[in-house]
Amino acid sequence: MEQIVTPEIKELVKRYRDIWTLDYALSLLGWDMETYMPANSFRERGEVRGNIRTQVQRIYTHPEFVSLVENAKTQNDVEKGIIRVLKRWIKYYTKLPKRFIEEEERTTAKAFQVWKEAKEKSDFKMFQPVLEDIVALEREKADYLGYEEHPYNALLDLYEEGLTVKKCEKIFSVVPQISNLFKKAKERYPNKHPLEDEPYDMIFLRRLIENILTTLGFDFSRGRVDVSPHPFTVEMGLYDIRITVRYEGKDFRRALMAAVHEFGHAMYEMNVSKDLWTTPVQHGVSLGIHESQSRFWENVVGRTRYFVERFHDRMVMALPFLKDYDIDDLYRYLTLVRPELIRVEADEVQYALHIYLRYELEKKLIEGTLKVNELPQVWNDLMDDLIGIRPPKDSLGVLQDIHWAHASIGYFPTYAIGSMFAAQLYEKLDMKHLIENKNYKEVMRNLRENIHKWGSIYPPDELMMRASGEYLNPEYFISYLRDKYLS
Ligand code: MG
Repeated sequence: MEQIVTPEIKELVKRYRDIWTLDYALSLLGWDMETYMPANSFRERGEVRGNIRTQVQRIYTHPEFVSLVENAKTQNDVEKGIIRVLKRWIKYYTKLPKRFIEEEERTTAKAFQVWKEAKEKSDFKMFQPVLEDIVALEREKADYLGYEEHPYNALLDLYEEGLTVKKCEKIFSVVPQISNLFKKAKERYPNKHPLEDEPYDMIFLRRLIENILTTLGFDFSRGRVDVSPHPFTVEMGLYDIRITVRYEGKDFRRALMAAVHEFGHAMYEMNVSKDLWTTPVQHGVSLGIHESQSRFWENVVGRTRYFVERFHDRMVMALPFLKDYDIDDLYRYLTLVRPELIRVEADEVQYALHIYLRYELEKKLIEGTLKVNELPQVWNDLMDDLIGIRPPKDSLGVLQDIHWAHASIGYFPTYAIGSMFAAQLYEKLDMKHLIENKNYKEVMRNLRENIHKWGSIYPPDELMMRASGEYLNPEYFISYLRDKYLS
């Protein structure tokens, strides 16, 4: 890894150490909030986190800091990366007025509560007013941040640097092919697998998960696996990266594959070069690249016959009911294709269709050609077109995701990028034989050398080009799906 040599950039990195420290604390507070925090501490914790965030903003917008960034002359890729990342944050914190950030915090805090209740009652009308506020805020946000061609571009770029509507159109140009594949693939599968109803012992499944993650390469001296309502990964520093899992009590693939998914996110952070520690480029570069790593491990490695072969003995030991199922049964259980109403339960064939639906709706909401009150109807119609089923109620349709309540408009397309880029890496990094040989060490080395160790030195497009020799090309995903599900 190149070293930081320019004195001004050394100075910047020194000053950045304060932001790094505050970010570390914010992450740990966030992890605690979703795992062990007493329920009634919500408001207090929100206050603390909000105040820390204000400190972060103060450092980013300090005139001396800004001028150091603006005048820096970079001498290598690491330095270029540092300045690029700092400029993005400075832009974010200077273009959005304090009033706006506070307003957004307030609205999303409320929206989260309203959304939860509306979802429980399956009552979209209840959520509608606050969602209207959020859409208005996000349109305003796009104006503050500035954009070319389409206001949605300003929001897309927040989650995936450089992503635009134009690029999304290319990504989703394969939707008709995916639809076709999905129609054919689902005919080959039963509508249900008996293992879905099989209850398991949570303690044993947990041990199995820890055991499998260790074999795949998770470093438990720098990480933990805990329990939370929604699985997630959070990285503090390079030496503390945590994932969470949810145990539903039956249908063990859900917890197991979620753990392997989060493992992929965690390894991206664990494998960043130690030379980048405490610098602005220490973390993974974008949500799309991050998701490509989690999906690589979950789908490309995990949902394979080879993975089942490798861990079959251990699975039977932890889950004795599996002795009645052979490797083929288990493989089918992990790759079952059938129409799903809920995105997070969708198989990897139809998953991108769920994302395309959200992309279309968000784009129209932000450009103002779709009104919030029209959402349920349009959602259901599009679901019918794309997946071939119609949500019987809004909790199984438009109310299912938390993202809009969080004001995370522009986030969804990164999931599709993740699936597609994972397939591209599989092909271009010649991973097929490594996965077939269960050589997980070499799989990890490949990902570490080509993706992980670079942190966010390179913007996503450039990293894709360096790692795979081309920009995102959805054709690899199509051939990956075809080989796996139709051959
Ligand atoms: Mg993920």
